[in-house]
Amino acid sequence: MPIPTSLCADCQANQSEVEIRKRQLCNDCFRKYVSSKILKRMETYRFKNQVGNAKKRLFLPISGGVSSLVLLQVLDTQIKKQLDQQNRTAYDLVLFHVAPQDNDGGEDWWQHVQAQFGLHTYLPIIKLAGVSQNDKHIEEDLQLLGLSRQEGETDEQFLTRLFTSTKSATARSDLQVLLLKRLIIAMAKAQNCDSVIWGHSDSKLAAKALSEVAKGRGGSVPNELADGPSPSGLNFNYPLRDLFKTELELYLSTLAGEIRSCQLENQEEEAVPVSLRMTSIDTLLNTYITSQGEKYPSIMANVVRTASKLQVPTAAQATACRLCAMPITAGSEEQQLCYGCERMKQDVRG
Ligand SMILES: [Zn+2]
Ligand SMILES: [Zn+2]
Repeated sequence: MPIPTSLCADCQANQSEVEIRKRQLCNDCFRKYVSSKILKRMETYRFKNQVGNAKKRLFLPISGGVSSLVLLQVLDTQIKKQLDQQNRTAYDLVLFHVAPQDNDGGEDWWQHVQAQFGLHTYLPIIKLAGVSQNDKHIEEDLQLLGLSRQEGETDEQFLTRLFTSTKSATARSDLQVLLLKRLIIAMAKAQNCDSVIWGHSDSKLAAKALSEVAKGRGGSVPNELADGPSPSGLNFNYPLRDLFKTELELYLSTLAGEIRSCQLENQEEEAVPVSLRMTSIDTLLNTYITSQGEKYPSIMANVVRTASKLQVPTAAQATACRLCAMPITAGSEEQQLCYGCERMKQDVRG
């Protein structure tokens, strides 16, 4: 849609350059709009909320995609401003990247990100197979799915076999999400971080809420999507929750080339597979929401808002699932897996 020439609705001085939620803004005001939405969700980590000199360490997983890069850029700008104005920062960032299983590259890109955003702690890139080395309980817990390491199998071989033992695309994606999350949590704890700061946009959170329900993990949705303490023992925060993927893409496009070049290629959502049978519920809903859902912003925002408010027993009241840490809401006392993980187990050849 061509944007009619008009003044920016916010500053009333510059020509408008973008249309956002039916308002015409200049690039400067649009960037302010995006970063204020993000920083509003980071208020827990302001100076005034600091207890004594206890500076928080925040764990920031970076996929290389648009969302986590925008989050990094906004937080980096905030930290620089704090250093300029007060000569100290309210929090420290620990950055982490998990390499895709079939990809050895990434080192040069990681160096490049480090050169652009130099103030933070960077952990070495780890592959997903590294979950075995970093999460001491994962192998024991995977045995509940009937999966255990065979004699002489390397971490890589074990991981590959885990994935090939899934009978459906949904179980495979479910397992991948689970392992990735366990690795991120283990690394964050090893780094003495208080919180994990997730780069999920509103679109991603809405897709996640709907796919969790479809996979029988509805009970975990409020825990998954709320800001604050999570069953993992760490706080989770989703500062991008009020912004759509398309808005984050637009924001990135207005930044300098050096920043834009920190995007890792081929990190976009999985392409839609040709056959539906090969499509996981996660991919299906992600694709649907990015292509259709963003036309209905208020419904999307409602999905996330409503889902975060549902009441479920906390892990303290109920037994926690050994694999995903979500509360087990029904079943006998000996049950060790939640309903969602039990469903995944049915799609795994042990
Ligand atoms: Zn303006
Ligand atoms: Zn579970």
